[in-house]
Amino acid sequence: RPVVRLDNVTRSYGETTALAGVSLTFHRGELAAIVGPSGSGKSTMLNLIGTLDRPTSGTVEIDGHDIATLGDQELSALRAMTIGFVFQQFHLAAGLSALDNVAEGLLYTGTPLAERRRAARSALERVDLARRIYHRPNELSGGERQRVAIARALVGSPRLLLADEPTGALDSRSGDTVMALLRALHADGTTVVIITHDREVAASLPRQVQVRDGRIVHDSSRDRVPAC
Ligand code: ADP
Ligand code: ADP
Repeated sequence: RPVVRLDNVTRSYGETTALAGVSLTFHRGELAAIVGPSGSGKSTMLNLIGTLDRPTSGTVEIDGHDIATLGDQELSALRAMTIGFVFQQFHLAAGLSALDNVAEGLLYTGTPLAERRRAARSALERVDLARRIYHRPNELSGGERQRVAIARALVGSPRLLLADEPTGALDSRSGDTVMALLRALHADGTTVVIITHDREVAASLPRQVQVRDGRIVHDSSRDRVPAC
């Protein structure tokens, strides 16, 4: 079953239609970009795929679950088990070490602290930050902060990593390192969806879904389907 399936999804804010009849599927193991200019509906799509918002009409299925059938608590549980989030501005806790920031990613699973820290250490090794685990965010570079945030997103082994402009606050060299890391995680089997307005970032990925004015105007995965 697909990790994400949107079927004819519309999301309106009063008079504004942010998304209009969007249908889109992401399968396990994909690495894809959702790309479009500011105001095209990317954040709205991210919020729907991330189950932080519900559609005005249409169906959103995450890992086979129709979210309309779930209450808010069930939805939080599904989200915690299934999706890891990465943001443009990292959203790390300033007062915590890298290790404890990553351990926070398991806070809602009921895992004991010692075990959370053990898992956090191994997630930090995966992002090549084993030597920085006791550093606080302000003692790390932007690229390192984003790698800590990626480790936090990964620590619970989510099916889907959802990254919102993950290189948007980084210089190009750190951005390249973060993109290389996301590619490596994908190569290890994680499904990764990256929201970006950066066409170059999008073009470097295997699949691009282009959004404009709340509609999908191009999906590169459909190029491979022969027209009949
Ligand atoms: P993007 O992330 O591509 O910049 P958004 O999804 O944020 O696009 O916005 C798409 C459209 O929906 C824009 O016209 C935006 O102003 C509108 N919009 C988004 N969120 C809200 C909201 N909470 N209330 C009203 N309008 C919104
Ligand atoms: P960014 O491009 O940095 O993601 P957005 O323009 O997408 O920023 O908006 C950030 C937040 O503001 C989102 O939560 C979105 O839903 C909300 N938002 C966007 N446009 C509007 C709007 N016109 N009215 C109210 N909220 C909005």
